[in-house]
Amino acid sequence: MYLDECILQTRDLKLEESGHVMGEEESKMETNAHSIIGKSPFTQAFQVRRDQAECDILSDDAVQVKNHYLCPGVIDALFKNYMGIFPLWSGLLLGDLSRHRKGTSKKDGSHKTRDTNCHVELWFGLVKHSILLKKKYLRPAEFVSKMYASIQGRYVEHIEQHNLPMHILDKNFGHPSRPDDDHEEQWNKRESSAGHSKSKSKYFNPPKALPNPKSPPATKVKKRKVDQQEQDAQGNLTWLWKKKDTEVVVAVLPSQMKGRILLIRHCELCSLRPHQWLTGEVIEGVFHVAADKFAVLNKMYLLNHYTASVILFGDRTQLISHSLPKVNFDNYEAVLSFVLVNNNHWKLLYIHANTSTVFLVDPAQSIKELDDSEHAAKRIQEYFRMRRTRHSITDWVDVKWKGGVMGHPLQTDGCSCGVVVVKMAKAVMESFPLIPNVNFECSKKYMKRERRELALEILEASVFDEHTYCAMCAALRPPGSGSPITDWVQCDDCERWYHAQCLAMDSRDFKKAETGYWNCPLCK
Ligand SMILES: [Zn+2]
Ligand SMILES: [Zn+2]
Repeated sequence: MYLDECILQTRDLKLEESGHVMGEEESKMETNAHSIIGKSPFTQAFQVRRDQAECDILSDDAVQVKNHYLCPGVIDALFKNYMGIFPLWSGLLLGDLSRHRKGTSKKDGSHKTRDTNCHVELWFGLVKHSILLKKKYLRPAEFVSKMYASIQGRYVEHIEQHNLPMHILDKNFGHPSRPDDDHEEQWNKRESSAGHSKSKSKYFNPPKALPNPKSPPATKVKKRKVDQQEQDAQGNLTWLWKKKDTEVVVAVLPSQMKGRILLIRHCELCSLRPHQWLTGEVIEGVFHVAADKFAVLNKMYLLNHYTASVILFGDRTQLISHSLPKVNFDNYEAVLSFVLVNNNHWKLLYIHANTSTVFLVDPAQSIKELDDSEHAAKRIQEYFRMRRTRHSITDWVDVKWKGGVMGHPLQTDGCSCGVVVVKMAKAVMESFPLIPNVNFECSKKYMKRERRELALEILEASVFDEHTYCAMCAALRPPGSGSPITDWVQCDDCERWYHAQCLAMDSRDFKKAETGYWNCPLCK
């Protein structure tokens, strides 16, 4: 009886959908012949009914309803994957199973098969009697909306029973409105069933596009990408730091002066390793990167540390050779630099034009700082006078420079003066034009972390194109090369390119490197 109903329903659906032919079923069933579904007696039974239904449809010329959502493939898919086993799990056959179980006691009134299938059966009972109220021939849209309402009701019940927050319901059943999807159905309703409620529309309205599973927010994806990049950068740095010091260029930094670049060589980057004394090139590189970051490149002149050291401690001849005639200090509001003291200690030099103050900041101790700053102010005054005498330029020459002191922490080891100088410089740039009262942690652990951060900053800011330029001279042509022909050799491990000339290779070495496996100085 139920089977008949199913077939009738199928037939009804088909009549509704169209009179189109659904052919070539025989061959499809053959390919399925050895599967459980293919062997199932139900498949055969349904197939017979289906063939009958198809014949009926073909002979019935009267039904010609155009359906935009016609999908004969659904029937095929149902037959291929579903109908053969449908009666087994759906509970359709359970009522009759007991007749095969001869001799078993029925005293307790329950049967094992019913027990194992009871959940399925109970659910179908609920669907049939409580949810669909024994209605037959429901339209798909009506069926879906009734099931949806019912399941949502169950959730509400569950939420109330367990004192859960009601908003989890929205989370699970949130339906973003897709107004575009309704256009066609509304048009159909006007044509064929105007005035009827939506549930009676005979057109099931599938979404135009299948809803995509909710993807994580874009920021998270981006963050994961960044994490990956960061991991790569960390790995690269660890690799570079493990290698013995070389002269290979590992970063090229843009500088404040247009057209001038700052080369960071491997050995210089390695000076950021824990417990090592920072080279001037590394400190200067970070200064330029940070000035760009804090947008002070137009207001703050980043003075080369050789020149700064000469200004504060050099003799007259040295001073003259560092007079910077092309720089107009009137274009700037401050000068930031650092100087080398006793050949082993870095200090920060900050010339603040707005307040005519010179700060010479000592990361190691602060008792003599004001004296040092006043001495520096005097030297700077002399420097600008020298420039007027030599080049007749008068920028900053009339300023009455005085020494000043700013609050800052002290280094806790013998080698981190460079790191403290960089941290101070960053603080100065960040609070420019105000004078900062700087405070940060100087523990060994913190310094170690800071060194790594600085190294990563340099590598990240690098604009070096390792695939185009020589990793030794960072240029296309070897320095001082008269010959238009240049021999290049590429490392088989890190893929950096080198001028044979920059590595002082003779023709025999070059031939060997060219033909065989070759490692650069960094990868050796
Ligand atoms: Zn080169
Ligand atoms: Zn290499």
